[in-house]
This record gives sequence, C-alpha cells and structure tokens, in this order.
Amino acid sequence: MNIVVCVKQVPEISEVKVNPETGTLVREGVASILNPFCEYALDHALRIKQATPDVNITAISMGPPQARAALLRALELGADRGVLVSDRRFAGADTWATALTLAAAVRAVREDFDLILVGKQAIDGDTAQVGPEMAEILGIPQIMYGVRMELTPNGKRLRVKRESENGYQVLEARLPVLVSASKGEAIRRLPSFADILAARQKPLEMITADALNLSEEQLGLQGSYTQVVKIFPPQAKKACRKLEGLSPDQAGREITSFLSQENFI
Ligand SMILES: Cc1cc2nc3c(=O)[nH]c(=O)nc-3n(C[C@H](O)[C@H](O)[C@H](O)COP(=O)(O)OP(=O)(O)OC[C@H]3O[C@@H](n4cnc5c(N)ncnc54)[C@H](O)[C@@H]3O)c2cc1C
Repeated sequence: MNIVVCVKQVPEISEVKVNPETGTLVREGVASILNPFCEYALDHALRIKQATPDVNITAISMGPPQARAALLRALELGADRGVLVSDRRFAGADTWATALTLAAAVRAVREDFDLILVGKQAIDGDTAQVGPEMAEILGIPQIMYGVRMELTPNGKRLRVKRESENGYQVLEARLPVLVSASKGEAIRRLPSFADILAARQKPLEMITADALNLSEEQLGLQGSYTQVVKIFPPQAKKACRKLEGLSPDQAGREITSFLSQENFI
C-alpha cells in the first residue's frame, strides 16, 4: 500500500508579524516548523503502517529549498521517502495553483498511490482548500476532518471517523482516497536519536516544474485565480461595561437589551 502525506513548512505562528507598510508577512528571522496538522496526518499514516504489512509512506512538500527541513522532520518521524517540489516558477501560487502542482507531483513520483493524507489546514494560510482541490483534480473521493482511520478487512476501502458540525460520522471510501487529518487520536511524535540518524539514510529528492506535466500558465502567479492584496491583523477592540448594584433580573434585562442593540440577538 502506498500512502502520500503532503506536509507544509509554516512559520512558528506565535512569532508571525505583519509589515504595516507593505501588508506582507515578515518571514525574516522567524523559525519554521512542520505544520502541526501535517504531523497528525503523518501520525495517522504511521498508525495504518503499524497495522498493515507493506506500507510505504512518501512525504511531499511544495516550497522553497528550506522546506527540505520539514521533509527531514517527516523522515525522522517515520516517513520512508521525502520529495521536495521546488521551483522559482511556483512563486505566488494561490491554493488552486498549489493543489494543481501537488497533484501533478503525486502523479509524477507516486502514481500508484492508494491514500493521500493532508492536514485539515495549514496554520499560516489557514484556508483548508488544498486537500479538497487536490482530490477534485485527481478525480478521487475525499473525506475531510478525519480523526481515526483504518483499512477494512479486505484492504480495499478506508473507514474514517470524521468530525462534523454535530458530532462524528463514520464513512467508508474505496481506495484511492484523499483524507484530511484533524487531531483526534493523533499525536505529535518525538523522534528518538536513532530515528534522527536513520532519517539521514532515507531518500530525500528534489523535483522541479520540469518533472510535472503542467504548462507554464498553470504554475505560480500565472496559474493563480486569486492574489493576496494585503494582509493585516484585526484591530483589537477592548470595551468593558460593569453592571453594578442591579438585581439578577435587572442585570439580565440590561444584558439582553445590550445584545439586542449590538445585533447579537
Ligand atoms: C489568494 C492567495 C495568494 C497567495 N499568494 C502567495 C504568494 O504570493 N506567495 C506565497 O508564498 N504564498 C501565497 N499564498 C499562500 C499559498 O497559496 C498557500 O500557502 C498554499 O496554497 C496553501 O494554502 P494554505 O496554507 O491555506 O493550506 P491549507 O489548504 O490550509 O492546507 C491544508 C493541507 O494541505 C497540504 N498543503 C498545503 N500547502 C502545501 C504545500 N505547499 N506543500 C505540501 N502540502 C501542502 C498540507 O497537508 C496542509 O496541512 C497565497 C494564498 C492565497 C489564498
């Protein structure tokens, strides 16, 4: 069985700042980490591998050369192979161009995939669009917000417990399928020293746009339908009114009338 896990390198979110003049993220001097939801996706893949013979896990990341560190981390955590998809022609990619590139990369390096796992969202871009777009592009079923997943006894379908608005659902899809991972039972693993050494012996390759069956118009800014014009932090509003000397009934009426005035109810 071949599992592909898409992993994204993201800035350590507590350190992200916005340049007020240019309206862009300040990336210089900000530490990078493997997106936590991608770690959960990898953990789900490793659980399937522990329960099933002959599972091979390929971690794929699209990003600049420094995203190699995210792949190395994935190898330390248990992936068998890492593939960095990197090219200056990818610059400015929106979620669609990213998904198209990643889908083409999966076809190029692991065409015989059975399962693609992605994080439910990246903690920087936060759109949660890349996974569903990849599934559409590849023409395979998708199940979002998976918290537990296992192969059915005949190994032909994946059973996924997923979060929904009202609780949980259990769904099955035939392979190949794309699943996005929520935390659920997944954990962020810590590699041992032996894992860290072993990762250095695992294959970690880089491919460029030339390896993908895409035209120049489909890449990066050219292939993007949307463009970020400006990024800005929301204005923090802090206002507080204390109700003092009122009975519980009077206080209740005051609060209801306030919420109504502010259009909350
Ligand atoms: C309109 C627009 C314009 C943009 N312009 C630029 C730009 O000019 N320069 C720039 O650097 N970024 C740009 N971005 C950001 C870039 O498009 C996103 O980082 C990227 O598409 C992923 O979206 P996301 O972070 O919301 O991921 P989500 O959809 O939230 O991620 C979900 C999951 O998809 C997978 N995934 C997502 N991205 C990758 C990846 N790169 N490699 C591997 N797996 C991945 C991971 O498993 C992740 O957990 C732009 C985004 C938008 C919306």
